[in-house]
Amino acid sequence: MGEAARRLAAAGVESARVDAELLLAHALAVPRSRLFTLDDVPDDAAGRFAELVDQRADRVPLQHLTGRAPFRQLELAVGPGVFVPRPETEQLTGWALERIVDQDGPLVVDLGSGSGAIALSIAHEHPGARVTAVERDPGALHWTRHNASLRVGAGDTPIGVVQGDMTDPTLLRELDGRVSVVVSNPPYVPDGAVLPQEVADHDPPLALWGGPDGLDVVRGMLAVAARLLHTGGWLGIEHADQQGSSLPAVVRAHGAWTDVEDHPDLAGRPRFTTARRA
Ligand code: GLN
Repeated sequence: MGEAARRLAAAGVESARVDAELLLAHALAVPRSRLFTLDDVPDDAAGRFAELVDQRADRVPLQHLTGRAPFRQLELAVGPGVFVPRPETEQLTGWALERIVDQDGPLVVDLGSGSGAIALSIAHEHPGARVTAVERDPGALHWTRHNASLRVGAGDTPIGVVQGDMTDPTLLRELDGRVSVVVSNPPYVPDGAVLPQEVADHDPPLALWGGPDGLDVVRGMLAVAARLLHTGGWLGIEHADQQGSSLPAVVRAHGAWTDVEDHPDLAGRPRFTTARRA
């Protein structure tokens, strides 16, 4: 274990010790907490662990190796083709849930849903919410649908999953003016930004890149969100550290919004912009 952790650290993995423990637990098919009471590792599990450490040292994301990504109260299935949900996005999801806390059967739309983390968390934590997840990338959509079906199996209200482009002026026309919250973790990485190898090589490009300043997709999405929301409905959009002023400025300039505000994440970095349909 110590050797695996040292090897991962030498390969540039940030949380080498934790990753080594989680990979060993995965190889043994036990929870991480069980590792501390374990006497020895059977040969077959040791072989699986060695292979997993090799792949992690090649900077394959931990979540692709375990096949799972924790997010709020859920664990999403993830793998090649889908963006791995990040802890930062849990807060945006919490913000969206607070907007609908008193509502019975609110309509919620998640634009660029990927694994379905935001949409499925809202459906899980606000029973009765009518959630639609929109995803454009066929490779990611497969995971949206897969996770949605797992949650139905677990007893949550089904979400709607729609293949579509969040900048398409005709997207979800049947929901015009009826939606309470539109929430999105859109592609917002500025072209040319240098990303960790796990992100650059394994998260789908469509989930990352947002044009010269990273805000091209957001600019295209604002008109769609404004059309879907009823007056007083809420929009929440995640953004990069450097977009804490530029994204609110784009939303204000669009003209359909009031109460434009930016919010920090738990590390204190600017992380998402919210606004209300005027
Ligand atoms: N936060 C992501 C990253 O780690 C980018 C996500 C996005 O573009 N939506 O690179």
